[in-house]
Amino acid sequence: MQKICLLGATGSIGQSTLDIIAQHPNKFSLECASAHSSVEKMADICRRFTPRRVVMGSEKTRDQLAVLCSDLAISFEWGEAALESIAADSNVDQVMAAIMGFAGLKPTLAGIRAQKRILLANKESLVTAGKLFMDEVAKYNVTLLPIDSEHNAIFQSLPQNLDGAHTQDVRKLLLTASGGPFRTWSVGDMQNVTPEQACKHPNWSMGQKISIDSATLMNKGLELIEACWLFNMSPADVSVVVHPESIIHSMVAYCDGSVISQMGNPDMKIPIAYGLTWPERISTQVADLNLFEIAQLNFEQPDLQRFPNLRLASDAWYMGGTAMAVLNAANEVAVAAFLNKQIGFLDIAQVNEKVLTSAEVVAVDSLETVFDADLYSRNLARDVISHGHFL
Ligand code: NAD
Ligand code: MG
Repeated sequence: MQKICLLGATGSIGQSTLDIIAQHPNKFSLECASAHSSVEKMADICRRFTPRRVVMGSEKTRDQLAVLCSDLAISFEWGEAALESIAADSNVDQVMAAIMGFAGLKPTLAGIRAQKRILLANKESLVTAGKLFMDEVAKYNVTLLPIDSEHNAIFQSLPQNLDGAHTQDVRKLLLTASGGPFRTWSVGDMQNVTPEQACKHPNWSMGQKISIDSATLMNKGLELIEACWLFNMSPADVSVVVHPESIIHSMVAYCDGSVISQMGNPDMKIPIAYGLTWPERISTQVADLNLFEIAQLNFEQPDLQRFPNLRLASDAWYMGGTAMAVLNAANEVAVAAFLNKQIGFLDIAQVNEKVLTSAEVVAVDSLETVFDADLYSRNLARDVISHGHFL
Protein backbone atom coordinates (compact mmCIF):
# COMPACT_ATOMS: atom_id res chain seq x y z
CA MET A 1 0.00 0.00 0.00
CA GLN A 2 1.47 3.33 -1.10
CA LYS A 3 0.52 6.32 1.03
CA ILE A 4 0.08 9.49 -0.98
CA CYS A 5 0.42 13.15 -0.06
CA LEU A 6 -1.56 15.06 -2.69
CA LEU A 7 -0.58 18.74 -2.85
CA GLY A 8 -3.25 20.62 -4.80
CA ALA A 9 -5.97 17.97 -4.36
CA THR A 10 -8.83 20.17 -5.59
CA GLY A 11 -7.19 21.05 -8.90
CA SER A 12 -7.36 19.33 -12.25
CA ILE A 13 -4.29 17.11 -11.63
CA GLY A 14 -5.51 16.57 -8.07
CA GLN A 15 -8.87 15.25 -9.30
CA SER A 16 -7.27 12.93 -11.86
CA THR A 17 -4.93 11.60 -9.15
CA LEU A 18 -7.89 10.93 -6.86
CA ASP A 19 -9.56 9.08 -9.74
CA ILE A 20 -6.60 6.69 -9.98
CA ILE A 21 -6.42 6.26 -6.19
CA ALA A 22 -10.16 5.46 -6.13
CA GLN A 23 -9.75 2.91 -8.92
CA HIS A 24 -7.04 1.07 -6.99
CA PRO A 25 -7.96 1.17 -3.29
CA ASN A 26 -5.79 -1.87 -2.56
CA LYS A 27 -2.69 -0.12 -3.94
CA PHE A 28 -2.99 3.51 -2.80
CA SER A 29 -4.39 5.50 0.07
CA LEU A 30 -4.66 9.24 0.49
CA GLU A 31 -2.66 10.04 3.60
CA CYS A 32 -2.44 13.86 3.33
CA ALA A 33 -3.99 16.45 1.02
CA SER A 34 -3.98 20.21 0.48
CA ALA A 35 -6.11 22.84 -1.19
CA HIS A 36 -5.84 26.60 -1.27
CA SER A 37 -9.40 27.82 -0.85
CA SER A 38 -12.00 25.34 -2.21
CA VAL A 39 -13.66 24.31 1.04
CA GLU A 40 -16.62 22.45 -0.50
CA LYS A 41 -14.46 20.43 -2.87
CA MET A 42 -12.07 19.53 -0.07
CA ALA A 43 -14.96 18.50 2.19
CA ASP A 44 -16.07 16.12 -0.53
CA ILE A 45 -12.53 14.69 -0.79
CA CYS A 46 -12.40 14.25 2.99
CA ARG A 47 -15.67 12.27 2.95
CA ARG A 48 -14.54 10.03 0.10
CA PHE A 49 -10.93 9.38 1.15
CA THR A 50 -10.62 10.31 4.89
CA PRO A 51 -6.97 11.43 4.72
CA ARG A 52 -5.18 11.72 8.08
CA ARG A 53 -4.07 15.35 7.58
CA VAL A 54 -5.50 18.13 5.43
CA VAL A 55 -3.99 21.57 4.86
CA MET A 56 -5.89 24.66 3.66
CA GLY A 57 -4.49 28.05 2.58
CA SER A 58 -5.86 30.13 5.46
CA GLU A 59 -7.11 29.79 9.03
CA LYS A 60 -10.58 30.81 7.87
CA THR A 61 -10.90 28.09 5.21
CA ARG A 62 -9.39 25.55 7.61
CA ASP A 63 -12.06 26.43 10.21
CA GLN A 64 -14.86 26.25 7.63
CA LEU A 65 -13.65 22.82 6.52
CA ALA A 66 -13.31 21.58 10.10
CA VAL A 67 -16.96 22.52 10.75
CA LEU A 68 -18.18 20.75 7.60
CA CYS A 69 -16.20 17.60 8.46
CA SER A 70 -16.46 17.67 12.25
CA ASP A 71 -17.57 14.01 12.29
CA LEU A 72 -14.33 12.84 10.61
CA ALA A 73 -11.10 12.00 12.43
CA ILE A 74 -8.88 14.28 10.35
CA SER A 75 -6.27 16.81 11.46
CA PHE A 76 -7.24 20.11 9.81
CA GLU A 77 -4.31 22.50 9.41
CA TRP A 78 -3.43 25.60 7.44
CA GLY A 79 -0.53 27.61 6.03
CA GLU A 80 2.88 27.18 4.45
CA ALA A 81 4.61 25.39 7.32
CA ALA A 82 1.81 22.81 7.46
CA LEU A 83 2.09 22.26 3.69
CA GLU A 84 5.80 21.53 4.04
CA SER A 85 5.06 19.30 7.00
CA ILE A 86 2.58 17.04 5.14
CA ALA A 87 5.01 16.71 2.22
CA ALA A 88 7.60 15.45 4.72
CA ASP A 89 5.18 13.41 6.89
CA SER A 90 6.84 10.21 8.06
CA ASN A 91 3.89 8.02 6.93
CA VAL A 92 3.94 9.35 3.34
CA ASP A 93 5.63 7.36 0.54
CA GLN A 94 4.89 9.52 -2.50
CA VAL A 95 4.24 13.23 -2.92
CA MET A 96 2.17 14.37 -5.89
CA ALA A 97 3.26 17.99 -6.42
CA ALA A 98 0.18 19.46 -8.13
CA ILE A 99 -0.04 22.95 -6.68
CA MET A 100 -0.31 25.67 -9.32
CA GLY A 101 2.67 27.99 -9.79
CA PHE A 102 5.66 29.11 -7.72
CA ALA A 103 3.68 28.45 -4.51
CA GLY A 104 4.49 24.76 -5.06
CA LEU A 105 8.25 25.17 -4.70
CA LYS A 106 8.75 25.03 -0.92
CA PRO A 107 6.45 22.06 -0.23
CA THR A 108 7.99 20.13 -3.14
CA LEU A 109 11.48 20.78 -1.77
CA ALA A 110 10.27 19.64 1.66
CA GLY A 111 9.18 16.34 0.08
CA ILE A 112 12.56 15.99 -1.63
CA ARG A 113 14.46 16.65 1.61
CA ALA A 114 12.34 14.03 3.37
CA GLN A 115 13.34 11.57 0.60
CA LYS A 116 9.82 10.96 -0.67
CA ARG A 117 9.24 9.73 -4.17
CA ILE A 118 8.26 12.94 -6.04
CA LEU A 119 5.63 13.01 -8.78
CA LEU A 120 6.17 16.40 -10.37
CA ALA A 121 3.24 18.11 -12.08
CA ASN A 122 4.14 21.55 -10.70
CA LYS A 123 6.58 22.55 -13.45
CA GLU A 124 6.98 26.10 -12.12
CA SER A 125 8.95 24.83 -9.10
CA LEU A 126 11.54 23.15 -11.31
CA VAL A 127 11.63 26.03 -13.81
CA THR A 128 12.28 28.65 -11.13
CA ALA A 129 14.69 26.78 -8.87
CA GLY A 130 16.28 24.65 -11.63
CA LYS A 131 19.76 23.63 -10.65
CA LEU A 132 19.09 23.97 -6.94
CA PHE A 133 16.05 21.70 -7.30
CA MET A 134 17.98 19.05 -9.26
CA ASP A 135 20.93 19.26 -6.84
CA GLU A 136 18.59 18.50 -3.94
CA VAL A 137 17.10 15.55 -5.87
CA ALA A 138 20.61 14.16 -6.35
CA LYS A 139 21.75 14.95 -2.80
CA TYR A 140 18.76 13.18 -1.19
CA ASN A 141 18.82 10.38 -3.78
CA VAL A 142 15.18 10.95 -4.64
CA THR A 143 13.15 9.30 -7.42
CA LEU A 144 11.72 12.19 -9.43
CA LEU A 145 9.00 11.21 -11.90
CA PRO A 146 7.75 13.78 -14.40
CA ILE A 147 3.96 13.95 -14.60
CA ASP A 148 3.74 16.66 -17.25
CA SER A 149 2.53 14.53 -20.19
CA GLU A 150 5.38 15.51 -22.54
CA HIS A 151 8.10 14.85 -19.97
CA ASN A 152 6.43 11.65 -18.90
CA ALA A 153 6.44 10.62 -22.58
CA ILE A 154 10.13 11.49 -22.92
CA PHE A 155 10.86 9.59 -19.71
CA GLN A 156 9.01 6.56 -21.13
CA SER A 157 10.94 6.87 -24.40
CA LEU A 158 14.38 7.17 -22.79
CA PRO A 159 16.47 4.36 -21.35
CA GLN A 160 15.03 3.79 -17.88
CA ASN A 161 16.99 6.24 -15.81
CA LEU A 162 17.19 9.96 -15.39
CA ASP A 163 20.85 10.21 -14.49
CA GLY A 164 22.11 10.66 -18.04
CA ALA A 165 24.06 7.38 -18.14
CA HIS A 166 22.72 6.42 -21.57
CA THR A 167 21.83 9.82 -22.90
CA GLN A 168 24.93 10.05 -25.10
CA ASP A 169 22.86 8.06 -27.62
CA VAL A 170 20.16 10.72 -27.61
CA ARG A 171 20.37 13.27 -30.41
CA LYS A 172 17.30 15.35 -29.69
CA LEU A 173 14.15 15.60 -27.66
CA LEU A 174 11.04 16.37 -29.70
CA LEU A 175 8.66 18.21 -27.42
CA THR A 176 5.15 18.20 -28.84
CA ALA A 177 2.72 21.09 -28.42
CA SER A 178 -0.96 21.22 -29.34
CA GLY A 179 -0.57 24.87 -30.37
CA GLY A 180 -3.48 25.85 -28.11
CA PRO A 181 -6.85 27.30 -29.12
CA PHE A 182 -5.32 30.11 -31.23
CA ARG A 183 -2.86 28.04 -33.23
CA THR A 184 -4.21 29.25 -36.56
CA TRP A 185 -5.27 32.76 -35.48
CA SER A 186 -3.64 35.95 -36.75
CA VAL A 187 -2.20 38.48 -34.30
CA GLY A 188 -5.11 40.79 -35.14
CA ASP A 189 -7.64 38.10 -34.26
CA MET A 190 -5.87 37.33 -30.98
CA GLN A 191 -5.96 41.00 -29.94
CA ASN A 192 -9.38 40.83 -28.31
CA VAL A 193 -9.73 37.24 -27.15
CA THR A 194 -11.40 36.79 -23.76
CA PRO A 195 -10.25 34.64 -20.83
CA GLU A 196 -13.18 32.31 -21.57
CA GLN A 197 -11.96 31.74 -25.14
CA ALA A 198 -8.36 31.31 -24.01
CA CYS A 199 -9.32 28.75 -21.34
CA LYS A 200 -11.04 26.50 -23.89
CA HIS A 201 -8.22 24.11 -24.75
CA PRO A 202 -8.92 21.94 -27.81
CA ASN A 203 -7.60 18.65 -26.32
CA TRP A 204 -6.92 18.90 -22.58
CA SER A 205 -9.09 19.92 -19.65
CA MET A 206 -6.84 21.78 -17.18
CA GLY A 207 -6.66 24.51 -14.52
CA GLN A 208 -7.08 28.14 -15.63
CA LYS A 209 -3.46 29.23 -15.39
CA ILE A 210 -2.01 26.38 -17.45
CA SER A 211 -4.85 26.78 -19.96
CA ILE A 212 -3.85 30.40 -20.55
CA ASP A 213 -0.19 29.35 -20.69
CA SER A 214 -1.12 26.81 -23.36
CA ALA A 215 -2.86 29.51 -25.39
CA THR A 216 0.17 31.86 -25.24
CA LEU A 217 2.68 28.98 -25.67
CA MET A 218 4.27 30.00 -22.37
CA ASN A 219 3.35 26.50 -21.21
CA LYS A 220 5.62 25.10 -23.93
CA GLY A 221 8.29 27.60 -22.92
CA LEU A 222 8.11 26.45 -19.30
CA GLU A 223 8.16 22.85 -20.53
CA LEU A 224 11.23 23.53 -22.65
CA ILE A 225 13.06 24.69 -19.52
CA GLU A 226 11.57 21.80 -17.53
CA ALA A 227 12.89 19.31 -20.10
CA CYS A 228 16.36 20.87 -20.01
CA TRP A 229 16.59 20.49 -16.22
CA LEU A 230 15.04 17.04 -16.08
CA PHE A 231 17.02 15.46 -18.89
CA ASN A 232 20.24 17.48 -18.69
CA MET A 233 19.81 19.19 -22.08
CA SER A 234 19.81 22.71 -23.45
CA PRO A 235 17.17 24.34 -25.70
CA ALA A 236 19.38 23.60 -28.72
CA ASP A 237 18.80 19.87 -28.02
CA VAL A 238 15.02 20.24 -27.89
CA SER A 239 12.75 20.84 -30.89
CA VAL A 240 9.24 22.01 -30.25
CA VAL A 241 6.89 20.28 -32.68
CA VAL A 242 3.33 21.55 -32.98
CA HIS A 243 1.08 18.50 -33.19
CA PRO A 244 -2.56 19.63 -32.98
CA GLU A 245 -4.07 16.19 -32.23
CA SER A 246 -2.08 15.70 -28.96
CA ILE A 247 -1.77 11.96 -29.55
CA ILE A 248 2.02 11.76 -29.60
CA HIS A 249 2.97 13.19 -26.22
CA SER A 250 6.66 13.71 -27.14
CA MET A 251 9.57 11.84 -28.70
CA VAL A 252 13.23 11.02 -28.33
CA ALA A 253 15.46 10.97 -31.44
CA TYR A 254 18.52 8.71 -31.18
CA CYS A 255 21.90 8.86 -32.93
CA ASP A 256 21.03 5.88 -35.20
CA GLY A 257 17.98 7.66 -36.65
CA SER A 258 15.45 5.90 -34.42
CA VAL A 259 12.69 8.06 -32.99
CA ILE A 260 10.80 6.62 -30.02
CA SER A 261 7.53 8.19 -28.94
CA GLN A 262 4.81 7.61 -26.39
CA MET A 263 1.23 7.93 -27.64
CA GLY A 264 -2.20 7.81 -26.08
CA ASN A 265 -5.44 9.67 -25.72
CA PRO A 266 -4.86 13.06 -24.09
CA ASP A 267 -5.77 12.22 -20.49
CA MET A 268 -3.53 13.07 -17.53
CA LYS A 269 -4.59 9.88 -15.75
CA ILE A 270 -2.09 8.02 -17.97
CA PRO A 271 1.09 9.84 -16.83
CA ILE A 272 -0.26 10.07 -13.27
CA ALA A 273 -0.81 6.30 -13.05
CA TYR A 274 2.61 5.69 -14.60
CA GLY A 275 4.22 7.92 -11.98
CA LEU A 276 2.37 6.25 -9.13
CA THR A 277 3.36 2.72 -10.14
CA TRP A 278 6.62 3.12 -12.09
CA PRO A 279 8.36 0.88 -13.13
CA GLU A 280 5.08 -1.07 -13.30
CA ARG A 281 1.81 -0.12 -15.00
CA ILE A 282 -1.82 -0.28 -13.91
CA SER A 283 -5.16 0.22 -15.65
CA THR A 284 -6.54 3.78 -15.84
CA GLN A 285 -9.93 3.29 -17.52
CA VAL A 286 -8.81 5.75 -20.21
CA ALA A 287 -10.38 4.81 -23.55
CA ASP A 288 -8.20 2.78 -25.92
CA LEU A 289 -6.45 4.78 -28.59
CA ASN A 290 -8.39 4.37 -31.83
CA LEU A 291 -6.00 5.21 -34.67
CA PHE A 292 -8.66 4.60 -37.33
CA GLU A 293 -10.86 7.25 -35.76
CA ILE A 294 -7.93 9.68 -35.50
CA ALA A 295 -6.82 8.83 -39.06
CA GLN A 296 -4.29 11.67 -39.36
CA LEU A 297 -1.49 13.13 -37.29
CA ASN A 298 -0.18 16.57 -38.27
CA PHE A 299 3.01 18.43 -37.46
CA GLU A 300 3.99 22.12 -37.80
CA GLN A 301 6.76 24.48 -36.81
CA PRO A 302 5.91 26.76 -33.88
CA ASP A 303 5.46 30.43 -34.90
CA LEU A 304 7.66 32.51 -32.62
CA GLN A 305 6.41 35.78 -34.14
CA ARG A 306 2.83 35.17 -33.07
CA PHE A 307 3.82 33.36 -29.85
CA PRO A 308 6.91 35.16 -28.48
CA ASN A 309 6.71 33.49 -25.05
CA LEU A 310 8.43 30.40 -26.43
CA ARG A 311 11.39 32.51 -27.54
CA LEU A 312 11.47 34.29 -24.16
CA ALA A 313 11.71 30.97 -22.33
CA SER A 314 14.67 29.91 -24.42
CA ASP A 315 16.28 33.34 -23.85
CA ALA A 316 15.76 32.98 -20.10
CA TRP A 317 17.49 29.58 -20.11
CA TYR A 318 20.56 31.03 -21.82
CA MET A 319 20.55 34.09 -19.54
CA GLY A 320 20.71 31.57 -16.69
CA GLY A 321 20.63 32.26 -12.94
CA THR A 322 17.44 33.91 -11.76
CA ALA A 323 16.19 34.72 -15.30
CA MET A 324 13.82 31.74 -15.31
CA ALA A 325 12.33 32.70 -11.92
CA VAL A 326 11.96 36.27 -13.23
CA LEU A 327 10.14 35.15 -16.36
CA ASN A 328 7.90 32.76 -14.45
CA ALA A 329 6.91 35.39 -11.89
CA ALA A 330 6.16 38.00 -14.57
CA ASN A 331 4.03 35.44 -16.37
CA GLU A 332 2.09 34.46 -13.23
CA VAL A 333 1.26 38.13 -12.62
CA ALA A 334 0.43 38.80 -16.28
CA VAL A 335 -1.85 35.74 -16.55
CA ALA A 336 -3.70 36.77 -13.37
CA ALA A 337 -4.11 40.29 -14.79
CA PHE A 338 -5.46 38.87 -18.06
CA LEU A 339 -7.91 36.63 -16.16
CA ASN A 340 -9.03 39.77 -14.25
CA LYS A 341 -9.45 41.58 -17.57
CA GLN A 342 -6.84 44.22 -16.66
CA ILE A 343 -4.72 43.50 -19.74
CA GLY A 344 -5.30 41.93 -23.14
CA PHE A 345 -4.18 38.50 -24.30
CA LEU A 346 -1.22 39.73 -26.35
CA ASP A 347 -0.08 41.93 -23.46
CA ILE A 348 0.89 38.82 -21.46
CA ALA A 349 3.98 38.21 -23.64
CA GLN A 350 4.70 41.96 -23.71
CA VAL A 351 4.76 42.15 -19.90
CA ASN A 352 6.98 39.06 -19.80
CA GLU A 353 9.42 40.51 -22.31
CA LYS A 354 9.55 43.89 -20.59
CA VAL A 355 10.24 42.32 -17.18
CA LEU A 356 12.76 39.77 -18.46
CA THR A 357 14.75 42.41 -20.33
CA SER A 358 14.75 44.98 -17.54
CA ALA A 359 15.23 42.79 -14.44
CA GLU A 360 18.66 42.25 -12.97
CA VAL A 361 19.65 38.59 -13.31
CA VAL A 362 22.00 37.05 -10.75
CA ALA A 363 23.39 33.58 -10.14
CA VAL A 364 21.24 31.25 -8.01
CA ASP A 365 23.29 30.47 -4.93
CA SER A 366 20.43 29.86 -2.49
CA LEU A 367 16.69 29.46 -2.30
CA GLU A 368 16.55 32.99 -0.98
CA THR A 369 17.95 34.32 -4.28
CA VAL A 370 15.10 32.59 -6.11
CA PHE A 371 12.50 34.06 -3.74
CA ASP A 372 14.03 37.53 -4.02
CA ALA A 373 13.96 37.32 -7.83
CA ASP A 374 10.36 36.11 -7.75
CA LEU A 375 9.24 38.96 -5.49
CA TYR A 376 11.19 41.58 -7.40
CA SER A 377 9.79 40.39 -10.72
CA ARG A 378 6.20 40.27 -9.45
CA ASN A 379 6.47 43.89 -8.29
CA LEU A 380 8.07 44.93 -11.56
CA ALA A 381 5.34 43.17 -13.56
CA ARG A 382 2.60 44.86 -11.51
CA ASP A 383 4.31 48.19 -12.04
CA VAL A 384 4.60 47.61 -15.79
CA ILE A 385 0.91 46.64 -15.95
CA SER A 386 -0.37 49.55 -13.87
CA HIS A 387 1.63 52.09 -15.91
CA GLY A 388 0.85 50.42 -19.23
CA HIS A 389 4.60 50.45 -20.00
CA PHE A 390 4.41 47.32 -22.08
CA LEU A 391 2.57 49.14 -24.88
P1 NAD B 1 -5.53 23.92 -10.87
O1 NAD B 1 -5.62 25.39 -10.90
O2 NAD B 1 -6.66 23.11 -11.40
O3 NAD B 1 -5.27 23.44 -9.36
C1 NAD B 1 -4.27 23.99 -8.59
C2 NAD B 1 -4.28 23.39 -7.18
O4 NAD B 1 -3.29 24.11 -6.42
C3 NAD B 1 -5.60 23.53 -6.43
O5 NAD B 1 -5.78 22.42 -5.58
C4 NAD B 1 -5.39 24.78 -5.59
O6 NAD B 1 -6.16 24.77 -4.40
C5 NAD B 1 -3.91 24.73 -5.30
N1 NAD B 1 -3.31 26.06 -5.16
C6 NAD B 1 -3.45 27.12 -6.00
N2 NAD B 1 -2.76 28.17 -5.55
C7 NAD B 1 -2.15 27.78 -4.41
C8 NAD B 1 -1.31 28.43 -3.47
N3 NAD B 1 -0.94 29.71 -3.61
N4 NAD B 1 -0.88 27.72 -2.39
C9 NAD B 1 -1.25 26.43 -2.22
N5 NAD B 1 -2.05 25.76 -3.08
C10 NAD B 1 -2.51 26.43 -4.15
O7 NAD B 1 -4.18 23.54 -11.60
P2 NAD B 1 -3.81 22.21 -12.42
O8 NAD B 1 -4.25 22.35 -13.81
O9 NAD B 1 -4.21 21.00 -11.65
O10 NAD B 1 -2.21 22.33 -12.43
C11 NAD B 1 -1.43 22.08 -11.28
C12 NAD B 1 0.04 22.03 -11.68
O11 NAD B 1 0.22 20.93 -12.58
C13 NAD B 1 0.51 23.28 -12.45
O12 NAD B 1 1.84 23.54 -12.11
C14 NAD B 1 0.41 22.86 -13.91
O13 NAD B 1 1.33 23.53 -14.73
C15 NAD B 1 0.77 21.39 -13.81
N6 NAD B 1 0.23 20.58 -14.91
C16 NAD B 1 -1.12 20.49 -15.10
C17 NAD B 1 -1.63 19.73 -16.15
C18 NAD B 1 -3.12 19.58 -16.35
O14 NAD B 1 -3.53 18.83 -17.25
N7 NAD B 1 -3.96 20.23 -15.59
C19 NAD B 1 -0.75 19.09 -17.03
C20 NAD B 1 0.62 19.21 -16.82
C21 NAD B 1 1.10 19.95 -15.75
MG1 MG C 1 2.41 19.43 -20.61
